[in-house]
Amino acid sequence: MEHKLNYNDLWAYAPAPEDSGHVNIRDRYGLFLNGRFQDADSGKTFETHNPATEVRLSEVAFAGETDVDAAVKAARNAFDKSWNPMPPADRGKYLFRIARMIQERSREFAVAETLDGGKPIKESRDIDIPLAAAHFFYYAGWADKLEHAFPTRAVTPMGVAGQIIPWNFPLLMAAWKIAPALACGNTVVLKPAEATPLTALKLAEVIQDAGLPDGVVNILTGDGSTGAALVNHPGIDKVAFTGSTAVGKLIQNSIAGSHKKATLELGGKAANIILDDAPLNQAVEGIINGIFFNQGHVCCAGSRLLVQEGVADEVIAKLKDRLETLRVGDPMDKNTDIGAINSREQLNTIEGYLKLGQEEGAQIHQPECSLPEKGYWCRPTLFLNATQSHRIVQEEIFGPVLAIQTFRSVDEAIEMANNTPYGLSAGIWTDKGSRIFNLTRRLRAGVVWANTYNQFDPTSPFGGYKESGFGREGGLHGLEPYVNFD
Ligand code: ADP
Repeated sequence: MEHKLNYNDLWAYAPAPEDSGHVNIRDRYGLFLNGRFQDADSGKTFETHNPATEVRLSEVAFAGETDVDAAVKAARNAFDKSWNPMPPADRGKYLFRIARMIQERSREFAVAETLDGGKPIKESRDIDIPLAAAHFFYYAGWADKLEHAFPTRAVTPMGVAGQIIPWNFPLLMAAWKIAPALACGNTVVLKPAEATPLTALKLAEVIQDAGLPDGVVNILTGDGSTGAALVNHPGIDKVAFTGSTAVGKLIQNSIAGSHKKATLELGGKAANIILDDAPLNQAVEGIINGIFFNQGHVCCAGSRLLVQEGVADEVIAKLKDRLETLRVGDPMDKNTDIGAINSREQLNTIEGYLKLGQEEGAQIHQPECSLPEKGYWCRPTLFLNATQSHRIVQEEIFGPVLAIQTFRSVDEAIEMANNTPYGLSAGIWTDKGSRIFNLTRRLRAGVVWANTYNQFDPTSPFGGYKESGFGREGGLHGLEPYVNFD
């Protein structure tokens, strides 16, 4: 009788959950408005839950139009009276202070991020929180050096920025938005996603403790209606949005013809391309990292695999093997690879695509891992024999689902990779530098990783082509959307 190797027995780990005892999550949070936490004008609130256990974590204020108006006025007042007139080096000192305080409280931030969003603690601890601090450090350095960033041009801040962020990297996206805006002398009103408000509110505590002048940063929790009220408020000068392409289009329509400038970072459907000379084990690990870690809740996730025919069977066999060893479950356990899906709605969306992919004729493959009873979970999934016209190849699923296609020539791979409405990122796996240069030039994607995937650094710009949006965040380029060129 054939004996099937059970990797989970072979590699059994005892549970190693992170302690959450040291993390103070308040029972109720107000809006952070003009330097103080306060209730919404309407008194409305909503609850935030842990998607891994469905347990309530806290209750937060729900900002309406009146609160948005008050926050924009506070930000304008702070811009005129304190932040813009302040010497740039002093603005830099505040940003350095925020960066250091995030570092000091990094364990607390990591645990709060994982509890509220469901992502594995090793992701929030090793990626989200250190990168958020790194963004504040990086832009703190630019605050008094803008004349070197734009050597031949005089720049001034834009004024008040309205910033809207999604639930997949709550603290990191807040840092991406707030740090460059403040470094350039702007003030901000930030709206976190309704599913993950906690780390933005903890950041508000840090901002309060750092002694930032009142109103420089305002954080308003709420839903899409709060976001829409912010975008439509006549008192903001700039909109920075990260989220779905559908909402990005709405925002672009609503600010058309106004003085407001926008940067939009929207969806993606990245192709990871494995050429036949690639180091295959390394490539397989990169593919797994690109789509399965963090549950595929990444707009630049490598959700498509294009593999050259000669190595396709070997790559698929290796991927299937590796899937067996991925640990799905308690996000607070440091050995977990795949945590909880962020919400019931998102799980429904992903499950809809799992059904659709099979109806379209792709062949589904999932490992047999067990899933916790409570919470929202999805097994890592491969779709074999996917074709270019399948919706699972064209549309963003935002879950741990990889659509696999094969190709013969490099030209064909480029054509397939570019053939979606998106253009945020891509990956190439090959042994030859010349092939890397050939592909990176021809792939219509804002970021192309070669022989690695999902690497981030505050010094390097990030952003999309086509329906993935426009404008760049990170690096020197990330300063540009926050200044006026006089
Ligand atoms: P996702 O599908 O990732 O949840 P969304 O685009 O729906 O992406 O949400 C991203 C952010 O945009 C969230 O903070 C959400 O509340 C906000 N949002 C949703 N609808 C609107 C809208 N019409 N105008 C402005 N912001 C919105």
